[in-house]
Amino acid sequence: MNYDEIFPKIISHAKEYGFVFPSSEIYDGLGAVYDYGPLGTELKKNIMTAWWKAMTQMHENIVGLDSAILMHPTVWKASGHVDAFNDPLIDNKGSNKRFRADVLIEDQIAKYEAKSLKDTEKKAAKEGWEPGSVDYNGFLTNNRNAKKAQEVQARFEAALNSGDLSKLRDIIVEEEIADPDTGSKEWSDVKQFNLMFKTQVGATAEGAMDIYLRPETAQGIFVNYLNVQKTTRQKLPFGIAQIGKAFRNEIVARQFIFRMREFEQMEMQYFIKPGTQMEWFQYWKEARINFHKKLGLSPDKLQFHVHEKLAHYADAAEDIQFKFPFGFKELEGIHSRTDFDLSRHQEFSGKKITYFDPETQESFVPYVLETSVGLDRTFLAHMSNAYLEEEVTTAKGEKDTRIVMKFHPLLAPYKAAVFPIVKKDGLPEIAREIIDDLKFDFPVIYDEKDSVGKRYRRHDAIGTPFCITVDFETKDDHCVTVRDRDTMEQVRIPISEVKAFVAKRLNWRDVL
Ligand code: ATP
Repeated sequence: MNYDEIFPKIISHAKEYGFVFPSSEIYDGLGAVYDYGPLGTELKKNIMTAWWKAMTQMHENIVGLDSAILMHPTVWKASGHVDAFNDPLIDNKGSNKRFRADVLIEDQIAKYEAKSLKDTEKKAAKEGWEPGSVDYNGFLTNNRNAKKAQEVQARFEAALNSGDLSKLRDIIVEEEIADPDTGSKEWSDVKQFNLMFKTQVGATAEGAMDIYLRPETAQGIFVNYLNVQKTTRQKLPFGIAQIGKAFRNEIVARQFIFRMREFEQMEMQYFIKPGTQMEWFQYWKEARINFHKKLGLSPDKLQFHVHEKLAHYADAAEDIQFKFPFGFKELEGIHSRTDFDLSRHQEFSGKKITYFDPETQESFVPYVLETSVGLDRTFLAHMSNAYLEEEVTTAKGEKDTRIVMKFHPLLAPYKAAVFPIVKKDGLPEIAREIIDDLKFDFPVIYDEKDSVGKRYRRHDAIGTPFCITVDFETKDDHCVTVRDRDTMEQVRIPISEVKAFVAKRLNWRDVL
């Protein structure tokens, strides 16, 4: 299915089944803010649990933190966010709309790349080239549109590196990029816009202090480095992991939960000895991409992307990109941040922030390797990865389509649904007994409405891995039918074995 078709389907599926709702919907919503519904909350919680276990439970030297959203304003001076947390914005005078200049250019490059791929596929069909063959790859990187993509990319990188905003505008004008909605090409100059939300603490005008909603969770970790290191007595290398809300006044508020104004991050700062950063950079790149693969994201939808422009404090940075319905985009960032953050907090706070190495008897400011992943983007990656429209044959032999969310069972909102085949003859009571036994170990749901076929479809659509049916024979043989979401195969097993049967598919050892 083509991308333009699939994305709206995922968004409406998310709403229809209670995964994600627009915020304040009865008041027509608030741009780029979303609420998670009953099933979304479960899925999100399961993703958090997986990340938390992978970080803290699997590493003796990684500990957790839950720092406050509100922080002393000097934190954001020291971190550089007050002066440099900006997006380059451009106004379209024809439509009076505001855009991110870098995003307009990236979209233009993606358009050339998509055309290049289409041309290559056409040519390959004519010439009989296999995808991936020398001829295919040669044409893919050398056709007219591929060259155009490379040329714009090179100009874009040069413009970013020069810091000259007018060069971004030149690309937009020369490439004849238009407002996607109105087609207008009348562009203003490019200006920088700070993304932090400002608010105040204190009641009186004189006593009030301007503060910011944190735009990332990482700074809460840096300012607690000494507290955590002292109380846990960790030695380098060690990490601090945190999950929490972050806020950015994003201008390009589209693409559903991909880019939100209020979102959640799962960040881990790994404190290391200077000089070991490249080794740890490689380690965490591998560890993090494997995490996504093991939790079920298709390996062919994951790739690394090297940053065009390194932040001034970073000496290496790569993104893990996921192929969202609108193309490969950043899911997670892996950054080698040197001693920038701790040194800056040392400078601005006047407090010594160092580590004493008992082996070398030296004190120094540790280097930091960061892994930073968006919880909401991971959620969207799993929604897009799991969503499948599958042709099936019904019990009556007719062709039908089912929508199935093939989540990893550990991520699925409910692990099992239990049905009595009819609502009488003591079958609901048996089903309830099974629920009462399973509910201590997994989230399970009782369902007695509609035909069993309809109930299967309903649970396929929310990704429930197992449907357990109690039928008339159950009373005699104490067995139930367990139907597998993915294969649709059914097996009959004793009620006493149901818990172990489900638990086998919920083994953290398989994913951590
Ligand atoms: P982008 O280039 O897409 O704006 P970024 O490079 O600014 O992202 P980081 O500051 O590295 O992102 O943040 C780390 C992670 O936090 C990102 O990889 C992403 O998953 C998530 N994230 C950042 N901004 C948002 C947002 N507005 N909405 C949802 N998730 C976000």
